[in-house]
Amino acid sequence: MTPRRFLRPFVALSLLAVPLAAAGTVLPGATPVDDAPRVAGWQSSAPQSDLPEVDAQELLRDLEILAHDSMEGRRPGTPGIERARSFILASLDDRGVAPLHGERFQSFEFQNRRDGQNYVGHNLLGWFQGTEHPDSYIVLTAHYDHLGVVNDQIYNGADDNASGVAVLLAAARHFAANPPAHSVVLAFLDAEEMGLQGARAFVADAPIPLESIVMNINLDMVSRSEVGEIYAAGTYHYPFLLPLVEEVMEASRITVLTGHDSPDLPPGQDWTMASDHAPFHQQGIPFIYFGVEDHAGYHDPSDTFENITPDFFVESARSILHFVTLADRDGQMILERSERETAVSVGQSR
Ligand SMILES: [Zn+2]
Repeated sequence: MTPRRFLRPFVALSLLAVPLAAAGTVLPGATPVDDAPRVAGWQSSAPQSDLPEVDAQELLRDLEILAHDSMEGRRPGTPGIERARSFILASLDDRGVAPLHGERFQSFEFQNRRDGQNYVGHNLLGWFQGTEHPDSYIVLTAHYDHLGVVNDQIYNGADDNASGVAVLLAAARHFAANPPAHSVVLAFLDAEEMGLQGARAFVADAPIPLESIVMNINLDMVSRSEVGEIYAAGTYHYPFLLPLVEEVMEASRITVLTGHDSPDLPPGQDWTMASDHAPFHQQGIPFIYFGVEDHAGYHDPSDTFENITPDFFVESARSILHFVTLADRDGQMILERSERETAVSVGQSR
């Protein structure tokens, strides 16, 4: 399927004139940001009224911390991923995100096929109770693990996937100030790089009834695109979500594309099974997966904070949050249109 393109001018901004605090010295949640740069000067013909605001400085700082060398590439079972967990947990507390029905952790055991070792993974869970439909849940997911240290090289995983985690933390800020109509779950998933283990555990031992899940919105690699493009994959399987994605396309200041989700694509180009949305899709739960095209930093030590495209990332976060608000607005329609059929194929993870 050819991607649909709604071209928007991508105008670079010097958002980062304000130097970010050195990640190693920032305690989680310790720095209230009152002077965050705003993007009001952005030149665009797109209507802006629907776009949620994002604290750009905080968003970038969160990514920088999670991708810092001290996190050692966030490999499951290492002190580095413990530090990442501590940072996420402190950020959730700081932003007033309640544990999901009293549970902050979903721990699970699995065997990594590549090294034959057994691991314990920990998903981190929070939620905002819906004001109108508290028993229906929009589940936002982003994996916080990455590849760790290989041959003495740190794989920082800035785009993959400190970026998605930072957007989930921005969603926490947003919904703390703007309570959703449907309940919104924030699920920070572990061990995606070892085979979508955290997402599999979430679905297999679901902390909420699967039939009550409106949809999954998965974020994995959302901060790096020199050409200002992000994909919203999933409308091939769930075409009733296309009008929502088109609303985001029209309001966004970056280029939002559909595609990467149909079985007739060349090997590796169908992302249907490529990240944590797959176990939800296998249960027939609708998904939209936000992610950028593969780039030079993909599963490479050069996937660092310095190499993301910050202006793009801020707009990517706003567009993703915009989609989440539309899913909340149309949640009852999505529940009615979902056919909940089961897909079965399995592919390689991103
Ligand atoms: Zn990833």
